[in-house]
Amino acid sequence: MTRSITRGDLEALDRADSLRDFRDRFAIPEGVIYLDGNSLGALPRETSERVRKVIEDQWGRDLIRSWNAHGWIDLQQRIGAKIGRLIGAGEGETVVADSTSVNLYKMLAAALELRPGRRVIVSETSNFPTDLYIAQGLLRQLGCAHTLQLAAPEDVEAAITDDVAVVMLTHVNYRTGRMYDMQRMTERAHAHGAIMLWDLSHSAGAVPVDLSGANADLAVGCGYKYLNGGPGAPAYLYVARRHQSRISPALSGWLGHESPFAFERSYRPANGIERFIVGAPPILGLTALEVGVDLMLEAPMSAVRAKSLQLTELFDALVTQEIGAEILALVSPREPEMRGSQLCYAHESGWPIMRALIDRGVIGDFRAPDILRFGFTPLYLSYLDVWNAVATLEAILTERAWDKPRYHERALVT
Ligand SMILES: *Cc1c(COP(=O)(O)O)cnc(C)c1O
Repeated sequence: MTRSITRGDLEALDRADSLRDFRDRFAIPEGVIYLDGNSLGALPRETSERVRKVIEDQWGRDLIRSWNAHGWIDLQQRIGAKIGRLIGAGEGETVVADSTSVNLYKMLAAALELRPGRRVIVSETSNFPTDLYIAQGLLRQLGCAHTLQLAAPEDVEAAITDDVAVVMLTHVNYRTGRMYDMQRMTERAHAHGAIMLWDLSHSAGAVPVDLSGANADLAVGCGYKYLNGGPGAPAYLYVARRHQSRISPALSGWLGHESPFAFERSYRPANGIERFIVGAPPILGLTALEVGVDLMLEAPMSAVRAKSLQLTELFDALVTQEIGAEILALVSPREPEMRGSQLCYAHESGWPIMRALIDRGVIGDFRAPDILRFGFTPLYLSYLDVWNAVATLEAILTERAWDKPRYHERALVT
């Protein structure tokens, strides 16, 4: 870059931004720049009213009749199909259910069932801990005949050999934002006869995903990050149609039964994706999630991705320009095609810096041991937000405002 970036440049980008009207659809508090939508998405304005209506008009008035009258019983499939459109799934290949962790358990067990002769699960050392913990727990239950083999991101491909049952990867890394080439990794897994299981928690609503195009087998993902479904929102799962009838779910609950209301004594799996439902769905959580998903579907994914790349590129360029890359070291990949919608920087005082930043209204988060993490959500962030966030960060570093005892105390949730 030959000339420095000015505030006016960013204001011009905001004026030309095709997504700028989405910001008003969210309740962002005054004085807050929210760079943590990758951890807990913001509240869509419509959510409160929709949830209130379901509580008062459906639960309150129509009581148990609501399961039929208001379509509660199909809600998981309906929202699942909508999420399916965001991730390139075919009809009847996605459903909303449980949490991401529980869905990982279900999908990992399914993958092992599809590859009965094989004993190795390959994943990545820096995968999100729950993904690894779930695998460890399942393997213990299976009598420790399997092994979980962890490789560094650049070594995963080489670790995929002919004895691997399943390759389990998070598409966009929760900490660094590093993104795998989904098609390439899936092809690699298939070339060795392995099942490919993707965790899309940091992908859906943030980057284009094409599960069908990549010929993916199984996937899971989170509802409360870029989908703005609310704290602890239900998660989703994807099973390619070609596998569905070959899997007998590990968590064989009554609502995954072929005929739940026949109350039979023995489990018979439902025909399609429904067999991966376990028990009664959280209707209030699903209602909130649907608002977030509907909003996301209104925005063209190509525009979301283009703005996300521009926001991250500008943020990083401004960090270099205003602060210096030697003070805040970028840990995320520099190549745009290799990263999701977040950036992270290493700094030995990352924790107190983030606390000071949050005190001044710029909300990101901290990931141990030394990572400052910033998520970029094109629907409710402006370019000017990027300018103001970097300016605040610069001021905190220059003034050493972070070096106060209260900023050094650790909180329970970081
Ligand atoms: C956020 C996230 C989860 C969340 O799991 P929960 O069961 O919903 O708490 C799982 N995996 C990854 C990669 C995540 O980023």
